[in-house]
Amino acid sequence: MSGTASPRLIANWKANLAPGEEVELARQIALRGSARQLAPGSLLIAPSAIGLVAVASLLRREHAELKIGVVAQDCSSDDPGARTGEIPASHLIGVADAVILGHSERRARGEDGRAIGAKVARCIDAGIVPIVCLGDLDARATDVERCDAVVDQWRGVLAGAAALQREEAAVSTSGIIIAYEPVWAIGSGRPARPETVAAVARALRSEAELTSAPLLYGGSVDGKSAAGYVGGSGAERVDGLLIGGASLEVESLFQIAAAVGVSR
Ligand code: PEP
Repeated sequence: MSGTASPRLIANWKANLAPGEEVELARQIALRGSARQLAPGSLLIAPSAIGLVAVASLLRREHAELKIGVVAQDCSSDDPGARTGEIPASHLIGVADAVILGHSERRARGEDGRAIGAKVARCIDAGIVPIVCLGDLDARATDVERCDAVVDQWRGVLAGAAALQREEAAVSTSGIIIAYEPVWAIGSGRPARPETVAAVARALRSEAELTSAPLLYGGSVDGKSAAGYVGGSGAERVDGLLIGGASLEVESLFQIAAAVGVSR
């Protein structure tokens, strides 16, 4: 995803749906996408780990023209091996185009920058795009404090990737996508102000590795708020949206798609 591409929407379904429901929702989205001229390549779907293969094969077999991408919600920080329950990044090759890493719902379970950085490095090795989530915790913080918090988080992730013997410069050139997701905005119905998102985008892009990284915003986006985030220029540009709750219904997802100009 380049900085000048049309907006990308990533639908994060979390663990809301059973695999059969995920396939059905993917089918309904694709049918609506065909009817509403969804821009090819503008939508990516992140089903649960157990629904990933079925959703990917449905979209590629029956709706290839829409180029809907498939995203894993996490991967292992380790190489393949004797690690019960883990999903190594290299096992996602051919299934997922990208992986969401460091979502706040995973950080809340103890995942830190070091582990997230290791996952980033594994994804880069596997040729899968890492979507690195960064987000401040306090709804009452100032924009300056938010910027400091997310820059700190980024440096923690970078150190984690570097600890795996990756050159920091190599990490920078590897197509990382950043998702700014203030934790207080997720699922709360209180999205961040577009000015805050622009300030955070500028702060992150002042980090040497992120100067040209695409940046998404996520946190209570709906059809009314979506257009206020996407676009802008220079270091404040926002390239797309990470969508949780509103991606679970075809109608609300397409209200967002229409608002940002990737469907009718
Ligand atoms: C998320 O959890 O990534 C998210 C953006 O959720 P929501 O849109 O529901 O706030």
